[in-house]
Amino acid sequence: MNPLSAENLFDFISKKNFKKIKALASGKQTPFLLIDLKKIARKFDELKQSLPFAKIYYAVKANPNDDVIKLLAKKGSSFDVASIGEIKQLLNLGVHGERMSFGNTIKKAADIAYAFENGITLFTTDSVNDLKNIAKKAPGSRVFLRILTEGSGADWPLSRKFGAHPDMIFRLILKAKQLNLVPYGISFHVGSQQRHIGQWDSAISQCKYLFDTVKNEGVKLQAINIGGGLPARYLQPAQDIQIYTDEILRFLEKYFKEDVPEIIIEPGRSMVAEAGVIVSEIVLISEKSKSSQHKWVYLDIGKFGGLIETMGEAIKYPIFVEAKRSHKDSREFILAGPTCDSVDILYEDFKYQLPKNIKAGERVYILTAGAYTRSYSSNYFNGIPPLQEFVF
Ligand SMILES: *Cc1c(COP(=O)(O)O)cnc(C)c1O
Repeated sequence: MNPLSAENLFDFISKKNFKKIKALASGKQTPFLLIDLKKIARKFDELKQSLPFAKIYYAVKANPNDDVIKLLAKKGSSFDVASIGEIKQLLNLGVHGERMSFGNTIKKAADIAYAFENGITLFTTDSVNDLKNIAKKAPGSRVFLRILTEGSGADWPLSRKFGAHPDMIFRLILKAKQLNLVPYGISFHVGSQQRHIGQWDSAISQCKYLFDTVKNEGVKLQAINIGGGLPARYLQPAQDIQIYTDEILRFLEKYFKEDVPEIIIEPGRSMVAEAGVIVSEIVLISEKSKSSQHKWVYLDIGKFGGLIETMGEAIKYPIFVEAKRSHKDSREFILAGPTCDSVDILYEDFKYQLPKNIKAGERVYILTAGAYTRSYSSNYFNGIPPLQEFVF
């Protein structure tokens, strides 16, 4: 048996919650995403308890649903935003710009001006041109300088595209001061769904190095933004969040001793993923030849319906049908989406186990689906509407 294949639906969701989901799902046309707001509230409380000194900036892109934002705003969260669209949405929901950080290093001068006019004075950058734009359009603001991380160990790495080498960051810090900005601190993102906790160790050690070197130049940095990367429970195992936060705390104390700076954390996936279940339906089951070993199961949701993180089979969602059959009655299947694009295959190398007598029309539950799904779903490709989302 494949060590990744989950035996039991109830390892991932409580019986009570699953019953609720079935009740909410009945009569609704699939596919759709159901979000349990109470679960998100619990995740927020847990993180706050494990890192009481850290300020939480929820990464809006993970799930920008209005009710999710309203809930987190009420609980005291701040927000990491990436575009004018996200800023407008949050302003409309009553979140003040003071509670937002413009974390995207790739932005137009006009975006910076809009953010600043609306009260945002905290920006992240990794290039001299963006820094100059910030100095011009958001004078006097605080800036985080983002260091490059390699992203290895992450199921969904963000490497290469963001951040700069410490030698460049060193120069940007001095440049920020020269431009009358406040070089506020160092930020990084170790890669999303990061399974190697040691990646925070090396990133924090680089922060310490930069704190020390710029101090010699008369700049006192005040904060570290440790980004996202905390995991959610998919098929591939990851440690509990508490183990991550204990380790991160240990790394901070190892390098900074009694002088740990202000800490900002930007959870996305870990805050919302486990609160979401996608309810889908089998469209068709087919065999490519009389002798082929695996049948294909086509679902009514695929890469274009919101499951883009199956690219390279990176994220392996726990996927179940409702009826429980004994293990000896299950088979390995290839899973694919419904659209006319051949990249719309979900899992071909990794084979999911499903009961051998599954049928078209049967419902399929895709768990841990609350992050990076709805917002990635396409706009009527093949006439399929964007993934519907309901909160409860
Ligand atoms: C996407 C993103 C996050 C959230 O990352 P997760 O791995 O989902 O927690 C945090 N910070 C920044 C700057 C991001 O772009």
